[in-house]
Amino acid sequence: MGTVVRQKVYGIVGQHCAELAAQEIARLEAIWTVFSPDSEICGLAANAGQQAAEVAPDTVEILLRAIELHALTRGALDITAGSLVHLWRLAAERSMLPTRAELAAARALVDITGIEVNELRRVRLRLRGQQLNLGAIGKGYAADRCIDLYRSRGARHAMIDLGGNVAVLGVKPDGSAWRVGVQDPSGKRGQYVGHVDVADCSVVTSGSYERVFELGGRRYSHIIDPRSGLPVDNDILSVTVVHASSLLADALATACMVLGSQAGLSLANDLVADVMLICTHGRLFTPGMARLFRPRTCPVAG
Ligand code: AMP
Ligand code: MG
Repeated sequence: MGTVVRQKVYGIVGQHCAELAAQEIARLEAIWTVFSPDSEICGLAANAGQQAAEVAPDTVEILLRAIELHALTRGALDITAGSLVHLWRLAAERSMLPTRAELAAARALVDITGIEVNELRRVRLRLRGQQLNLGAIGKGYAADRCIDLYRSRGARHAMIDLGGNVAVLGVKPDGSAWRVGVQDPSGKRGQYVGHVDVADCSVVTSGSYERVFELGGRRYSHIIDPRSGLPVDNDILSVTVVHASSLLADALATACMVLGSQAGLSLANDLVADVMLICTHGRLFTPGMARLFRPRTCPVAG
């Protein structure tokens, strides 16, 4: 999933759980990556506009959740923006902006209703050329799966970090909460603006500070606004979401990046999620996050 995975799983079953979780992540990555023609996601794109293909239960599950999340986030999270993501990745590789015609063609393929899922686990993309991209929610889904796996195998204290996407099971073995640092979007990696102490929860941060690309002296985000087809360019530097569901936290963090601070904060409040937005003009909090967040006063352990 393009990141380093860190796990801490305590107890006799710990080592075994960590190995199973690593296998689970590798399995999900293999079926969802856009970088291998053998993945289910690439298979769906290859058959778009034509026949349906049978997919794994996890793929059906994440697609159904993604359709819900599209509605919940007012269209800001749209996994059918795959063609746009691809177009902007090519632009970065070639150091050349897409043309108007290329942008219009890719935008025309952004349509969540094009995902057709039937009861036999068969999925079809309605529009020829349509591509999915699970980059905004795959890690959240995987983190939830790993926490389920730890729990079902008898672990009681565990933490998984999929590069900015943290989920914890229970409290730490000594009974204290897990401390999760919030990355400073303007600082070096591992430099924190503060932390949250959590149990049985997920903490996800999304930001344009990572995986940006530069073109003609301008910096472009890897997050695309599905409405305009353009990389997001607003007042938000990063979004941190605390929620029981890592999938929802992951989706909401990306969606807030798209929506901008005002609409993002209002969405977070509507979804009763704990969110902090670090903006160019300061920090914004939902009421729950204002209580949870501890600004940095001393160095934070990771
Ligand atoms: P995240 O790091 O969770 O914010 O997800 C960003 C990744 O999701 C990008 O690298 C793209 O692969 C993909 N993506 C970008 N914009 C969107 C969007 N508006 N909706 C869904 N996926 C997106
Ligand atoms: Mg996300």
